[in-house]
Amino acid sequence: MKIAPRKNPTPVIKWFLCDRCCISSPGINEYNIIIVAKGLLIVLVVFIALVALDWTLSVVGGMLPPLPSSFAFGPSAYPSGLGLAIGDFSLFDKNGVGRSYITQGYGITPYSAIYPHDWHDGIDIAAVYGAPIYTPTAGTVIATGDQDRYCYHRGFGKYVAIEDPVHGLVLWFAHLGTIAVSAGQSVASGSLVGSVGATGLETGTHLHFSIFEASGFTMEARDGCGPEPTGQDVNPLAYLGSIYD
Ligand SMILES: [Zn+2]
Repeated sequence: MKIAPRKNPTPVIKWFLCDRCCISSPGINEYNIIIVAKGLLIVLVVFIALVALDWTLSVVGGMLPPLPSSFAFGPSAYPSGLGLAIGDFSLFDKNGVGRSYITQGYGITPYSAIYPHDWHDGIDIAAVYGAPIYTPTAGTVIATGDQDRYCYHRGFGKYVAIEDPVHGLVLWFAHLGTIAVSAGQSVASGSLVGSVGATGLETGTHLHFSIFEASGFTMEARDGCGPEPTGQDVNPLAYLGSIYD
């Protein structure tokens, strides 16, 4: 058997051990006091280095352009684009477990290059897994399905489409964990639609919510993901908080 040569300790360890063998000298003696003192010195040096790094990063951060104004938390800001406003809508139990943040707005966003035409056709609302989702309007369920059966984790995952005949709109709920309705069913405002999940193209648990004009809305198989919502989408934030509370 070949025996690996014993490696010399690194200079730091050598220095730490005072270049002498003091391990075998238990108790309080000058060598061990020196080791403790050197240990404290190393902790201090690391601490100062971290403080200096933090200061450097803050200076570099100060030289970067400011974040866009839409990057603001607060109940009043429902921006298109990046989002991160509080989304306290009746889609979720108000002030309940689902009360959460809009993590991506409508249209062209910092992340929308991954979608067809670089366009995010709804808003994303981060919420806890399993949070119940309610329809903010009465209507008819016109479609339910699961795109993961066609293109795993590339599409909308489990979805529900509800037509609101009063306003001529279709509400689209996607990435659901569970679906609580079936196609053809009439639903009252406030009915349970399903629960928040992580199906389809997801980087985190959230509800994708779109609104389409009912006129011309169809479900068509186009991109290998099974039936897709096809029609004119509109900015949901123009409707949530007004016709849908
Ligand atoms: Zn989305």
